[in-house]
Order: sequence, then C-alpha cells, then structure tokens
Amino acid sequence: MPHPRHARSPWPQRLRGRRVRAVDAHGKHLFLRFDGDLTLHSHLRISGHWGVYREGARWGRSPRRAWLVVRNEGWDVVEFDGPVLELLSEARIRSDRHLAALGQDVLGETFDPSDFLARLRSDDPRRPIGDALLEQRTVAGIGNLWKAEVCFATGIDPCRALVEVSDEEALGLLVKARELMRQPARDGFSARPRAVYRRTGQPCPRCGAIIRQRGQWENNRLTFWCPGCQS
Ligand SMILES: [Zn+2]
Repeated sequence: MPHPRHARSPWPQRLRGRRVRAVDAHGKHLFLRFDGDLTLHSHLRISGHWGVYREGARWGRSPRRAWLVVRNEGWDVVEFDGPVLELLSEARIRSDRHLAALGQDVLGETFDPSDFLARLRSDDPRRPIGDALLEQRTVAGIGNLWKAEVCFATGIDPCRALVEVSDEEALGLLVKARELMRQPARDGFSARPRAVYRRTGQPCPRCGAIIRQRGQWENNRLTFWCPGCQS
C-alpha cells in the first residue's frame, strides 16, 4: 500500500504470500478473495479505477494515487483513487446489510425476471425509468452511461415515469442492458456504445434530432436522450 496514509496499515502483513482464490463481482462491488478467509471489497464509485499491468510497465495513473498494489511474479494489479476499499471476513460480508440488499447482478449468468419486476414495482411509481435503473436494490450494476444508452437502444424516453412503463418494456430494457454490457465487460472500456451519453447538442445517430440532457429525480443524475426517436 504505497500511499502515505496507509503507511501503518496491517494489510500488507496480513495478505503477503496468500493466494487469491477468486475474483468476482456483484454489480459494481468487486471482491478479491484470498486464502485464509480474507476478502478485499472494493467499489470505485465515480473516481476509482483498477488497472492490470505487466511488471515494470507504466501504470495508467500516477503511483501517488495508488491505494493498493497486488503483485505477483509478472503482474501488478493496482487500485487507484478508491473511495471504498476494505478487508473483511466472509462472515462479515454476508452480514453486510447494504450488500445483502442489492438486486441481482445485471451480468449474472442467470437472470430472474420476476424478481427484477417485483423490485422495480416496489419503487415509487413516479420515479423516471432512467433513474429507476440506477437503483442498485432493483438490479445491481447499471451506471449512468448504461442507463442512458440502454434507454436509447430500446427507444424508451428515460424521463417516462415508472407507472407509464409496461412490464414488457421494463424487461426489454434489462435484456438490452445484459446484451450491451456483456461486450465491454469482456473486451474493455473502449468497447462501450456512445450514442447519447454526454453527446448533448449533437445529432442523434439514428434520426438526426438533437440530443438533450436533464437532471433526474432526487440525486439530479444527468440523463441524455433523443427527443426524436425515444418516447
Ligand atoms: Zn433519435
């Protein structure tokens, strides 16, 4: 842990030499599971980043911003600017109420549509569908870019209230999210679609109308959509 703030951290001592036996994710929560019942839990929020580099290669961000380096022979796995990074036992993770409340992983191997719909319908019916897709208790893993791109890809206006979205439309959004998110999950960040996200004022790639933006719901999260082909 190179950051001066962690100079006295006991983690290097506790983790040194231990094998990583699994790496898995639930939505935006990442878990590095070490032998000896020690698991690193990380959430990047908006600022954080994980990088994987060959030993000796230049890192993607300044080493001063690295909070954690997991190193073996040949590879450095580095967490930068991470706002959530904790070392926990499996029992502690299982009893974490916030983690337990998460909806199913959007990219999980299987997906239960009725669980998703039940959770979606327990939300405030006035909430815009775009913002409701960000609710991690409904489905875990959809962020602001995906919310906008999935609504665009399905032709649904993200400002439409939940009460005006049919079950069929809601499931269509989820199917599309799973389809669109799978490729960048495999091929990396640059494989993301970029039809409307942060393209305010530019023409829609589908119909040519001008893309708009608006803050939504309680957290005023920005959404981007095409008024010409999303309704
Ligand atoms: Zn359009």
